[in-house]
Amino acid sequence: MDFISSNVAALSPSLTLAVTNRAKEMKAKGEQVFGLAGGEPDKDTPENIKQAAIKALENGATKYTPSVGLPELRRAISDKLKRDNHLDYSIDQICVTSGAKPAVYSALRATIEEGDEVIIPSPYWVSYPSMVQLCGGTPVFVETTAETGWKITAEQFANAMTPRTKMLILTTPHNPTGAVYSEEELRAIGEVAVEEDILILSDEIYEHLIYGGEKHVSMASLSPELYNLTITINGFSKSYAMTGWRLGYSAAPEGIAKAIKLIQDHTASNATTFCQYGAIEALNGDQTFIADLREEYDFRRQYVYDRLSKMPGVKVVEPKGAFYFFLDMSALGMSSLDLCSKLLERYKVAAVPGIAFGNDQAIRISYCTSLDVLKEGLDRLEEFCKKH
Ligand code: PMP
Repeated sequence: MDFISSNVAALSPSLTLAVTNRAKEMKAKGEQVFGLAGGEPDKDTPENIKQAAIKALENGATKYTPSVGLPELRRAISDKLKRDNHLDYSIDQICVTSGAKPAVYSALRATIEEGDEVIIPSPYWVSYPSMVQLCGGTPVFVETTAETGWKITAEQFANAMTPRTKMLILTTPHNPTGAVYSEEELRAIGEVAVEEDILILSDEIYEHLIYGGEKHVSMASLSPELYNLTITINGFSKSYAMTGWRLGYSAAPEGIAKAIKLIQDHTASNATTFCQYGAIEALNGDQTFIADLREEYDFRRQYVYDRLSKMPGVKVVEPKGAFYFFLDMSALGMSSLDLCSKLLERYKVAAVPGIAFGNDQAIRISYCTSLDVLKEGLDRLEEFCKKH
């Protein structure tokens, strides 16, 4: 008897670990590694946010808060959702969690049960399928390609539907591809969801990292019907460079919000109290950090896109959001793990194998690093492509 639950035993081990651990090992030995694998902003949290948390800590914010978060923070989130996303959520519909990751998991726990199917466009953010499996659900993947801009169409969504379909997970802007869904595309997908009464988990954590005149649209804002079917996920990690603070949130229709609260009550209790004060400042304080981050990342994005467009063997789609490029490397005829291992061992460049996101012909690189590292990393990637 090994005592492991079958839902956990069914999870696949992380395929990225082999490469990322090796990169860490090389760095520890003093070898230079050009890291293009990062998944968090290469900036420190803005000072005003840090100071708000320090002040809260000094003032004794060291006790429990309501499990779903401080009312003042939920008020700030409610105001933000109104201001930025045209969404009306009362503070009772909002649950603050320790990162967006647990917000996704609680939303799935609240809604998915044994036998339910969850449609996940592939490539996907690594954790969705495992979380669905932990809830006893079955992930159903819908393949997207570079040719379609790494986006699913309403038709693909409709075709993937079975009587057991309960939810669609949609990420915009998207990790790992940087794809951004337009309002028109979201409306078409939303129409199918309404027709078939399917929930949508809308992960909007990269909403502010959007470029080239694109506009972020929240699925729940498109109609009252979609509002009633959508769980909106967002957080502080990417927009405010707060990955280590562990703060995210869900906003959901009343019944689902109540279920999410129950889960939070009995599992996590509240997100760290003094961190929540930092989050209030993040939302209510000066927002220039976001504009500056966007501007700098847009500059890097254009540089990287220009370089990649000229590289042999690389099929690249211009990403309109987040801070990643998802590169179709099928021309090289290697598995993504093999490719990333060779790139690391021989050229000292760390990238994430696409298999981690469900596509073994691709790799993910990020531009959360300095222009110098990007330049050297891309020179080396180009060498690699020319030789293989
Ligand atoms: N959703 C997506 C699409 C992400 O890329 C990430 C972080 N990589 C998360 C959710 C989780 O964010 P957090 O660090 O706030 O848990």
